[in-house]
Amino acid sequence: MVKSNFFISTAIDYPSAKPHCGHLYEKILADVLARWKRLDGFKVHFSTGLDEHGLKIQRLAEKEKKTPKEFVDKMSKPFLELCKIYNISYDDFIRTTQKRHEKVVKNILTKLYKNKFIYKAYYEGQYCVECETFYTTKDLVEGKCPVHKKQTEFFKEEGYFFKMSYFQNKLISYIKKKHFIVSDKKRNEILNRLNEPLKDLSITRKNVWGLQFPIDSKYNVAVWTEALINYLTTIDYPKKKFKTFWPGYHLIGPDIVWHHTIIWGSMLMACKLKLPLVLTHGYINLEGEKMSKSLGNIIDPLELSKKYQTDSIRYFLLREIQFGKDGDFSENKLTEKHNNELVNDLGNLVSRTLTLAVKSKGNIRGKQELKINVNKIDNLMQEFKINEAIAGVWAFIKSVNKYVNDKKPWELEGKKLDNVLYNLLESLRIISILVSPFIPETAEKISKALNIKLGKLKDCKFRKINYKVKQIPHLFEKIDVPKPINKEKNIGIITMDKIKFSDWQKMDLRVGKIKAVKDHPNAEKLYLLLIDIGPIEQNIQLVAGLKQHYKKEELLNKKVIVFRNLESAVIRGEESAGMVLAAVKDNKVVLITPDKDIDIGARIQ
Ligand SMILES: [Zn+2]
Repeated sequence: MVKSNFFISTAIDYPSAKPHCGHLYEKILADVLARWKRLDGFKVHFSTGLDEHGLKIQRLAEKEKKTPKEFVDKMSKPFLELCKIYNISYDDFIRTTQKRHEKVVKNILTKLYKNKFIYKAYYEGQYCVECETFYTTKDLVEGKCPVHKKQTEFFKEEGYFFKMSYFQNKLISYIKKKHFIVSDKKRNEILNRLNEPLKDLSITRKNVWGLQFPIDSKYNVAVWTEALINYLTTIDYPKKKFKTFWPGYHLIGPDIVWHHTIIWGSMLMACKLKLPLVLTHGYINLEGEKMSKSLGNIIDPLELSKKYQTDSIRYFLLREIQFGKDGDFSENKLTEKHNNELVNDLGNLVSRTLTLAVKSKGNIRGKQELKINVNKIDNLMQEFKINEAIAGVWAFIKSVNKYVNDKKPWELEGKKLDNVLYNLLESLRIISILVSPFIPETAEKISKALNIKLGKLKDCKFRKINYKVKQIPHLFEKIDVPKPINKEKNIGIITMDKIKFSDWQKMDLRVGKIKAVKDHPNAEKLYLLLIDIGPIEQNIQLVAGLKQHYKKEELLNKKVIVFRNLESAVIRGEESAGMVLAAVKDNKVVLITPDKDIDIGARIQ
């Protein structure tokens, strides 16, 4: 029985570079909401995909001597791989270069034109290639794009406009009256911006990689104008699927709320279509600092998945970060959550229950002695309080662990043992259902061990089942917590002034890779380097006097040799946990780098 319909979309990603953690986080959130609704008996359409047109793509393709289509075909691969590795259960992966999208864009723009919302005029303004958006001089921050802090470019040409200004008052009253922008903060920001007169929107470009403008073939459609229409393409506008699923939920990052509410909202109003609900998540920082290309501290989620189970990464992001707020990524915290909540709480419960249950002769019967409030968890999910919902599930897991400890089933036999086993197996079955949106691989493993099909939300109550369980390998293995450098015992610490020849054997030299370069806040000639030295310690910070010898971009991603068990020092207020090896002569400094490519963390012998 279908309860109702649910359409959720992520923003479509701009494949100008490989996917980052922000892309992953958004997809995981949408995936969890989609999975929860499916669990609740809803008919779900979940879309994600790529926004493949625009000047930036065109320029990057030119650089690589590729056509833009060849370029986006290549760049689409890591995004698809990301979805596969992290079990993103999308129903549609849309790419704006697909024919079906062109058709819908043509349909919508023709409708806008017929409804007299499109006209031709001159436009000029400051254009940010990064966001493919025009800004007024007032919007700029010190002459730069307010989002990217990059120099904008001046454009002037004749083109077509959409009468967005016509919708200003309609938008204001809609935003005030309706549940449209879920975040209060974002809602107020948008209302504030609407205190200024709303301008018409330039919707065409000349000689830019994009879809042909259906009204005038000399032009292409501006990238934002058509990208937003993807939400209609994915549900086959105007056909049956559209009628089933529209309007849906758009899950997006905090930087594109204007586009999704004002631009998209007015376009929909002009077509007399209903408006969706706009949900925003926060940014993910890296150990307190914003991840960005210029800082070089971007975490590659594909690389991350080689180091940790994807369910652990999913769990960490969902459990650690409050929906709508900015969150912090740290491998230490990920390890902590993995060890405490996945290995200890869930993994141990599963393995101790299965160990007992495989020994039993079957036909396990008993009466319910454990309780869970599934409605409460479901309500939290309806309010997008994902981390609290997980906390609710974990409270139940902990209560089941306590039940095992109290009942001591290993000391029991006969009906008493059966009764405890019945409670444990039914709890595990319910747990496998409840955790399935968050850690789907793990949920599958548990239900396979129980030899049953993963149930739905309505199955989350105790009942009589004949179990034929199988023992399975541990769901999660404990991960060693990365130790700080000066606690490393086996080799010991070497102080620079006491170094002797025999100390050479004690020196731990490793191949590292410079992940980020920053100016030392208190010293003109020094850099702060963040160096990845492999799985033992991950990133260590060094202070290095390299500023006169290397530019930041020359250092970024360079492989170097790091003296890692040197006693750490604080240099002008910044910790320096080692040294990089360099050759020096007549004030010239050259870093020592490995001759051939070798893994980060390799030891110099
Ligand atoms: Zn920008």
